[in-house]
Amino acid sequence: MPRRRRRRQLETLKQIKARRWEKQKGRCHYCGKEMSKREATIEHVVPVSRGGPVTDRRNIVLACEVCNKRKGNRILEEMPKKE
Ligand SMILES: [Zn+2]
Repeated sequence: MPRRRRRRQLETLKQIKARRWEKQKGRCHYCGKEMSKREATIEHVVPVSRGGPVTDRRNIVLACEVCNKRKGNRILEEMPKKE
């Protein structure tokens, strides 16, 4: 059943998030700002819309709300690659 699968995926994401948050010491991956676990947003390094794995922890970083929004805009604008 899809419903069951979805619930399991959410749980996994939650676990990944908690682990990631500790690994990043509660700081944003991009700007280094301290954030609470609740403030942290899940960022997929390779966007899911481009085939990035949803629950692969290597594809997940945590970002603050500001960076999350900024990155979202970049994707929309097709940011050129930055070294
Ligand atoms: Zn940030």
